[in-house]
Formats: sequence, structure tokens, C-alpha cells
Amino acid sequence: MGNTSATILGIAQDGGVPHPGCYCKTCEEYSKNNMRISPTSLGIKDGEQFHLVDVSRDLDRQLRIIGIQTVTDIWLTHGHLGHIDGLGLFGKEVMNSKGINLHASYSMMELIQNTPNLKKMIQKGIFIPCQFNSNEVIQSSDTLTITPIQVPHRDEFTDTHGFIFEGPTKSLFHLPDHDSWKETLETAGNENVHDWFSSLNIEIILLDGTFWSKNELSRQKDVPHPPILESLELLGNKKEQNYDIYFIHINHTNPLLNPNSNEIRILNDSGWKLSKEGDEFPL
Ligand SMILES: [Zn+2]
Ligand SMILES: [Zn+2]
Ligand SMILES: [Zn+2]
Repeated sequence: MGNTSATILGIAQDGGVPHPGCYCKTCEEYSKNNMRISPTSLGIKDGEQFHLVDVSRDLDRQLRIIGIQTVTDIWLTHGHLGHIDGLGLFGKEVMNSKGINLHASYSMMELIQNTPNLKKMIQKGIFIPCQFNSNEVIQSSDTLTITPIQVPHRDEFTDTHGFIFEGPTKSLFHLPDHDSWKETLETAGNENVHDWFSSLNIEIILLDGTFWSKNELSRQKDVPHPPILESLELLGNKKEQNYDIYFIHINHTNPLLNPNSNEIRILNDSGWKLSKEGDEFPL
């Protein structure tokens, strides 16, 4: 195995599981058994560098999954709560870090500059702003390139990106949040989800699996994500020549969190998978 790999550091939607203020069966079960799932985040080891994709309030628990002390680079997908609310932990009150490359799009960088405590962290040299452009390949090292892919997603504060991480042997596409297949495929200029994924030359996909079905939440139309049922319909069953897909960004209401559910059986039968914290992929 080479020196470049990706590790799943969280697979929950922004609120985590258990979810604040929620007493549903899943949240009660997790709470009672002292279990939790952290908001979606990904770690990429590349030689001496460690890239963290999105920073949640569970940073301690998440770095401990792989025993990392020093984060050299942070990549932000967008400005929604669970993807950025751990940024302050790198400051003086907690980790007292210095010189972390903070990679974000223009609009994400603007949000940071307009947030007084985060702006201060840039002024103090805790973060070094590194703005990226959509679809522009960034050569991070001899063994790793990173490509931001823009997707439509309730862009109230910032735009939203997924990232392709390409190592010496494999490429991984991390896409935690997008609104709908229709808009995403339109933006990508592809008619079919398999055409799009094939065009990206990837072996592993971490895909928005927030909701299982479209009626899981009474206010679901305000928080659009393609339900897994729709994704499965578009994907069909996994064929041998296909990439591997692992669903991430799972909401506490998603029945996949119950290992005995009919839904997890349906997913397993399709050949695609539910991601889990600690899963490691050599790149
Ligand atoms: Zn999210
Ligand atoms: Zn719940
Ligand atoms: Zn979001």
C-alpha cells in the first residue's frame, strides 16, 4: 500500500446522531448505548500531509479515529453548519494551530472573511487562505491531485463543491450534499448519472444519502437532497465494471441506521453500500 489514503471520519448529516432535541427511536437507541455518528468528514493522508475535508464540532473524536495530531490542509465543501462549525477549534482556545492551508471557493472565502472570529484566525496566521476554482485540478503533491466539482445545493451563503482526490492508484469522489439529480446532472452536462461518474474517471464515490425516501421529514422540501431510493433507481444494481458507491451524510431519520431494517437489506441487494466511520481507502 502506498502513502496516500482516505479515511471516513463521519457519515452523519450536519446534526449528527443522536440529533439535538430529537427523541426518535434511532436517537434514543444511540443515546442509550452511548453511541454516536459524527457529521460527514473525510481525512486524506498523503505522505507528511493530512487533508481534512470539512470540519465538524466532533473534530476530537474524528481525528482520534486515525490518530492524527496535525492537520496541514482543510478543504471546505460549503458553508452549512456541520461542515464548518469545528473551524474555531484550531484557534488559541483549543488547538492553537499555525499555518493550516484553508482551501475554499471564492464565496466560501467571503463568508469566512465576513465572520469576525474566522477572519481573526486568518489574520493571526492560523489559517492561510487558498482559494480554488471549480474544475481546476490542484497538484497538491507528487502523489495527490484534488479537483473541486461544483454542484447545486441551496446556496444561501456559499456555493457547494464535491472533491475528487486522485492518488497514484485510485480516485475518490466525495459528494456529501447536493439538491437533486436533475440539477446536478444539468450542471455537469450529462443526462445520465453513470455517464457523469464514468466521465470523472473515479473508482470510489462517497455520495449524499441524507434521506432514504422523499417523505421522511415534514419539512423535507426545504432541505432538498436526492433520496437514496431515487439514486438507486437511477443507478440500478451495481455491475462488476462499476465504481464502488458508499452513501454518506445520513440523517437521523434514515432507516439505514437500523442494521435490521428492510431498507439496509434493499441497499445491500443493490450492491451499493452504506459508508461507516473508520473505513479506509488506499488511493
Ligand atoms: Zn450537510
Ligand atoms: Zn432522531
Ligand atoms: Zn448543506
